[in-house]
Amino acid sequence: MASVRVAVRVRPMNRREKDLTAKSIIKMEGNKTSITNLKIPDSISGESTRDRTKTFTYDFSYDSTDCKSSTFVSQEKVFKDLGSDVLKAAFEGYNACVFAYGQTGSGKSYTMMGNPGDAGLIPRFCEGLFSRISEATRWDVASFRTEVSYLEIYNERVRDLLRRKSTQTYNLRVREHPKDGPYVEDLSKHLVQNYSDVEELMEAGNINRTTASTGMNDVSSRSHAIFTINFTQAKFDAEMPSETVSKIHLVDLAGSERADATGATGVRLKEGGNINKSLVTLGNVISSLADMSQDGVNTNLKKKSVFVPYRDSVLTWLLKDSLGGNSKTIMIATVSPADVNYGETLSTLRYANRAKNIINKPTINEDSNC
Ligand code: ADP
Ligand code: MG
Repeated sequence: MASVRVAVRVRPMNRREKDLTAKSIIKMEGNKTSITNLKIPDSISGESTRDRTKTFTYDFSYDSTDCKSSTFVSQEKVFKDLGSDVLKAAFEGYNACVFAYGQTGSGKSYTMMGNPGDAGLIPRFCEGLFSRISEATRWDVASFRTEVSYLEIYNERVRDLLRRKSTQTYNLRVREHPKDGPYVEDLSKHLVQNYSDVEELMEAGNINRTTASTGMNDVSSRSHAIFTINFTQAKFDAEMPSETVSKIHLVDLAGSERADATGATGVRLKEGGNINKSLVTLGNVISSLADMSQDGVNTNLKKKSVFVPYRDSVLTWLLKDSLGGNSKTIMIATVSPADVNYGETLSTLRYANRAKNIINKPTINEDSNC
C-alpha cells in the first residue's frame, strides 16, 4: 500500500510583495510547514493567540524562498524526491499522477515546467525517461513505445494543445473505454523517440496555451493543463513475453482561488463556477478516498463503500485511474511566503492536508502476451 505523497513548496517573494513590504509568514522545519496569522497579536496570552501559528506535516516541505540559503530546495531536488519516484513507477508498470495545486502566481507552472535553463518536473521526467530507455535498449531487455499528449480543460471543456492548427476551440469529448478507462476522443497522440522530440512538443503546447490566454481573459490561470505520457514496455527477457502500459499524467491545475467564486459576476461567474466545479470535485474525490483509507486503517470498522464522485467533473473523470486505486499519486501544493496571501495560503495548506490520508493500492498493468 502506498499513500498519496504530498509536498508543499514555498517560492521567493515576488516584486509586488516586496513593493508592499510584505512579511514572510511561512516557516519550514524538516517536513513541517507553519503559517502565522500576523493579524493575531503574539504578545498577549489568551484564547486568540493559540491560533496564531498553525503547523502541518507533509511528506515534504520545500523551502525555495532563498537560493543562497543552505536549506534552499532546487528544481533538481524536487525531481530527485518526487520525479524519480514517478519514473520508477512508470518502469514498474504503474500509472502515476503528479498535480500542482495553488493560487495563481504561487509557482505551479514553475514547478511543473520550469523556466529556460531552470527546468521543472515535466522536462526532467522526460529526460530521465529517455536516458533509462537508452540504457535498457543497450542491454536489449525490452522495447519501448512512448506517446505524448497535452490538453487543456477550460470551462469543463477540452482542447488539444498539440494540434498543428489549433482552432482554440474547446470541443473534445471525454468518453470511457470499458477496459482502458476514460479518454479524450480525437486527442492527438505523438510518438516520441527521444527527449528533443518531447521538448519540441512541450514548447509548441506551452506557446499554444499562453497565446490563447492573452486574448481570452487569463485562460491559463483558469484552466487545467494535463501533459500525459503513455509508456509501453515489451519485455522479452522473461520466459513469457509481456507488455506493460503506464499512463503518467502531469497536471498544472487552475489557480486555487477559483475554487471560491465569491464576488465573481456574469461571464466570470460562469468561468469561476465551472472551474470551481473541477477543483471542488477534486477536493471531494480526495476526501472520499481519504475516508476509504481511514476505514482501511481502522480494522475494527467494517469497510464502508464510499462513493467517489469522479464523474462530477471533466478533470476528475480523466484522472480517475490516477487518483486512488491503480496508481501512484503525488500532489505538490505551491504557496507564496507573504502575509498578504494569508487566506489563500492557509486554504492551500488545508487542501493539501486533506490529500495526505489517501492510501492507494497500486497494481501493475500487465498483459501477458499469450
Ligand atoms: P502559477 O503557475 O502558479 O500561476 P508561476 O509558476 O507562473 O505561478 O510562478 C509565478 C512567478 O514566480 C514566475 O515568474 C516564476 O518563475 C516565479 N517562481 C515561482 N516559483 C518559484 C521558485 N520556487 N523559485 C523561483 N521563482 C519562482
Ligand atoms: Mg501557471
